[in-house]
This record gives sequence, C-alpha cells and structure tokens, in this order.
Amino acid sequence: MDYPFKREPEPGKKFTVCEGVDWIRMPLPFALDHVNCWLLGEPGLQVLIDTGVNDQSTQEHWHTLFNDIGQWPKDLLVTHFHPDHMGLAGWIGEKISGELLGSAIEINTARTLHGIESEAYEHTYQQWYSSNGLPQSTCDTVRSNGNTYKGKVFPPPVQSKWRFLADGKCVELAGRNYRVIVGRGHSPDMIMLYREDDHVLIAADQVLPRITPNVSVMPRLSDNNPLQSFLHTLTKLEALPDDTLVLPSHGQPFKGLKPRLAFLKTHHELRLDEIWQACKSPCSAHDLFPVLFSRKLDAQQTSFALGETLAHLHYLEQQGRVQRLEQASITRFKSIAT
Ligand SMILES: [Zn+2]
Repeated sequence: MDYPFKREPEPGKKFTVCEGVDWIRMPLPFALDHVNCWLLGEPGLQVLIDTGVNDQSTQEHWHTLFNDIGQWPKDLLVTHFHPDHMGLAGWIGEKISGELLGSAIEINTARTLHGIESEAYEHTYQQWYSSNGLPQSTCDTVRSNGNTYKGKVFPPPVQSKWRFLADGKCVELAGRNYRVIVGRGHSPDMIMLYREDDHVLIAADQVLPRITPNVSVMPRLSDNNPLQSFLHTLTKLEALPDDTLVLPSHGQPFKGLKPRLAFLKTHHELRLDEIWQACKSPCSAHDLFPVLFSRKLDAQQTSFALGETLAHLHYLEQQGRVQRLEQASITRFKSIAT
C-alpha cells in the first residue's frame, strides 16, 4: 500500500489531497482519536462530507475553519449515522443554505436512536450484555451511562429536510459527478462516493488503511448477519481500478485498494476459524473475548467487542458451522464438526 501524503493536516485545518477535495482531520475523544472529513469544491459551492462528534472543540474547529474560508459550505453530506460522522449534522444543518444529503436508512437510524429514553436504552444494553455472558459488574456500569448515542450527537434534522441518496445513482457535488456506492456491515446503508473521472473513492469506514472496520451485531439494528453484508461490499469494491485513491474516514489516504480488500477478507476468515475452533465446547460471546482481543477493553470497546464477536458467530451459524444453545438465560454457541 502506498501513502501519497507525507503529512496530515493539523486538527481542524484543511489540506488538499486531489483536485477539488480538501482533507480535514477532526479530533475525537475516544481511543480512535480522529475522524477525517472532506470538503469538496470552491467556496460558495462547497459540500462538506461528515462532521465529527458533537463537542465544543469540534464546533470551535468548524467555526475557525469556515471563518477563515469566509463562509459555511453550501451542502452537507453524511456517510452514516455514527456519532463521529454525523454528530454535528443538526448543528451544521442550521448554518448552511443548501441541501442535507444522506441515506434514508442511516438518517432514520440516527433519529430513532437519538429519541430513545435513557432508561430504555440502558435496559436494552444490560439485557444484551447479560444474555451474552458479560459479568454483572459490566452490566451495572451501563446503568448509569444513559443514551450514549444522544450524548455525542446534536439532534439530527428531521427526515423531511434531507435528500436521500441510493446505491448506484450519480450525484453532482460541487460541480463534479460521483457515483454512490452503498457499503453494508459496518453500518446499515453507508454512503461511499466514487469519482469515475480520476478514480477517487471517498470510502467512509468501509476500507481503512491500518485498522479493521468494526463489523457488529448491535441490539437495536436489524442486520443479523453484518459480516456477510460487509464481505459482500468488499467484493463489490474489487471492481474499482488498481490506481484508485482511497480517502478513508480514519487514517491516511492510500493507494492499493485491492491488497487491502484481500487483507480484510483474510482477516475475517482467520477469525471465523479461530472462533469455530474455540467453540468445540459451548462458549458465550464473552467467553470468546480472549480469543479475539488481547488488550483490556474500555466501555465503548466492550460494546464493539461484543458486537464484533457476535457478527462472527452469526456468520458461522448461517453457514451451519456453529449452533446456538440457550442455557440458563445465556446464549452460547457450539461448533458443528464439518
Ligand atoms: Zn468512523
């Protein structure tokens, strides 16, 4: 893989990566400490892609940047519902004169999650944790966390304010044509944008250069086999040219899409085998954490870890390689000899 840029922009500053695309790196208060946003086109016509999380420092960075440019962007496009990508869609949406663009499924998901009362939100997570074998102490921690999604996201604009984009359609952004490619598995209906003219892919979280995108079964999302959806999307991306410049939401822009897609597929195949082996005696998802994660996990990472482990188990279950056993209110999985 080749990283054409030797440096990255300072937090909140922009840096041109190819014609008509500026890279802006916003800090995040998580273990993953930044998100990349993209600003397309010239002032007056600009389209901003993704916003960062809803906190004061990100708001200040946007204020400073658009003060320097002289105006706010015309349109805002969000790739998916996660807080680091659309945490400030509602806030920036109030400042722009043009359109809000995104996927109907992603926007509905954001609106739904944002509207859940804290008690119901905590209850869902507690049940999810305990039925998958997490210790009572972890389940108890969730009790005081409230609606963690709402905590990181400014109220998202109502559905009627958005123009929805769909897979395969062309969309003109800041005077250039892009093809929408929907990615599934990391989130339900994530928007990627491909510029055919000069082979630029705004890849959101589908393909990241140094980390593997989180692929999770989540308690309030309907995709029950997100790993299958994710691998299917990787296959779809194999059709793009070898010289495609990939602009990912985390890490550095890179070339070498095909080797990265191959790496991601192999990574998941290896994990599937490890889990299948470990399930010779019945295991809950929590029992499998040491197989998959060597580091100590914080609260957010615990939820990602559980979701990710379940994504592999559900995939194996669909393939007929493990069977599910409900024992004493805990879900366990046992491998089936093949
Ligand atoms: Zn992300």
